[in-house]
Amino acid sequence: MPREDYEVIIGLEVHSELSTKTKIFCSCPTEFGGAPNTHTCPVCMAMPGTLPVLNEKVVEYAVKAGLATNCEISRDSKNDRKNYFYPDLPKSYQISQFDKPLCEHGYVEIETENGPKRIRLTRIHIEEDAGKLNHDPYGRGSLVDLNRAGVPLIEIVSEPDLRSSQEVEAYMRKLKSILEYIEVSDCKMQEGSLRADVNVSIRPKGSKEYGTRTEMKNMNSFRSIVRAIEYEVERQVEVIDNGGTITQETLRWDDVSGKTFPMRDKEDAQDYRYFPDPDLVAIRLSDEYIQNIKDNLPELPESRKERYLNEYHLTEKEANILTSSKYLSDMFEKASKICGNIKSVVNWLLSDVSRILNEKELEPDQMPFNAEALAELITLIDKGTISSAIAKKVLEEMFTTPEKMPSKIIEEKGWVQISDEGAIKEVVLQILSQNSQSVADYKAGKDKALGFLVGQAMKLTKGKANPQMLNKMFIEEINKI
Ligand code: ADP
Ligand code: MG
Ligand code: ZN
Repeated sequence: MPREDYEVIIGLEVHSELSTKTKIFCSCPTEFGGAPNTHTCPVCMAMPGTLPVLNEKVVEYAVKAGLATNCEISRDSKNDRKNYFYPDLPKSYQISQFDKPLCEHGYVEIETENGPKRIRLTRIHIEEDAGKLNHDPYGRGSLVDLNRAGVPLIEIVSEPDLRSSQEVEAYMRKLKSILEYIEVSDCKMQEGSLRADVNVSIRPKGSKEYGTRTEMKNMNSFRSIVRAIEYEVERQVEVIDNGGTITQETLRWDDVSGKTFPMRDKEDAQDYRYFPDPDLVAIRLSDEYIQNIKDNLPELPESRKERYLNEYHLTEKEANILTSSKYLSDMFEKASKICGNIKSVVNWLLSDVSRILNEKELEPDQMPFNAEALAELITLIDKGTISSAIAKKVLEEMFTTPEKMPSKIIEEKGWVQISDEGAIKEVVLQILSQNSQSVADYKAGKDKALGFLVGQAMKLTKGKANPQMLNKMFIEEINKI
């Protein structure tokens, strides 16, 4: 049966590290990096006799995430132990939430080819992260780093509502932007603060039952998530078409070979022997507590988009792209405020900046320069110090030497626009003397010839001549001939 006759079913478990200052059950810092085992204490190293104390901020951040994704917030919740053995888990259990998660029954809206679509969220719960194993490249063993052990996470579980890798990417991007807007996670995928377990199955179109799913763990880039789904769907189609059956298992995606490999058989909830953690008290939330968080929720992508349409009169498309990333839209607002040229900031961000980000495979939050630099670039164009052509070259430089402000780059490269009347006239006269045919054409009514002459003058000055002055001066001088 061809691939088109199968429907793809995907559900995601997204883990997001919360940006609280301290860990979930002790006061160690959550900061990324640091020498191995320096952000640790007896609690997160699981020394016997230590007791966890729940960090209230973690509950607040999780409730914020729940409210921003239309969840119901549980008044009555608790922490459970999820038991399993792995060397990066010193207690041999992870403190998580089992049957009473903090948030349930939410949804997130994404844009699809067929219009907006709601992806339902089953739940959001809080839990602790595990440590990290550093494997010796020469096979002499592995060392455990517990800096990350006890860093707070929320796990956002979706219903199997996603139907393609494009929908998954849109969903992940939407979640990322919501979490950034409410400032509960920095969502740096390259540092693992946002990662997803991707569950994939297929079924013949029209079938009501779900097929058996496989799960790809810990995916942390949009690109590999999309590639992994495409690969896994093809693999499942092939297995079924050859008369085989899909085994429910956990897979590992390998970015280098572009394939998935079996990691282990899937375990069921009963394998984890979940039970309430006797060291922690139940979590009771009052209506006032929840209402207070609700009243103080920051602006979300949707309302910011509305504001852009009404306040700045941006087009739907412009507002969509800018607000899809909090970083990008903050940059837009800040740069616009500094330079006062909203239209130009939108144009630069959506055309040249986006193009270069794409080429370099960077996300907006990896833009190396700040809003001040972008605003200065635009001011330099507006003041006539540089032409737009030169500005494009300056922008390229800003990506490679972000520590230099545009004015500095221009000064060092000698790219200041020629706006001196005498100098412009000299260039114009030289080009006119070399292009008598174009002069004749222009006089004969071919307006295009003027563009050609200006182009020649730009070439001669390596893009540095002021184009408006060139235009004016050419017309004046031709009229004298
Ligand atoms: P666990 O992985 O902990 O056993 P669940 O059974 O709750 O948990 O499912 C986890 C994820 O798998 C959810 O996001 C859910 O939407 C997704 N999922 C469940 N069944 C399927 C299926 N047949 N195909 C694709 N995804 C599925
Ligand atoms: Mg799972
Ligand atoms: Zn600690």
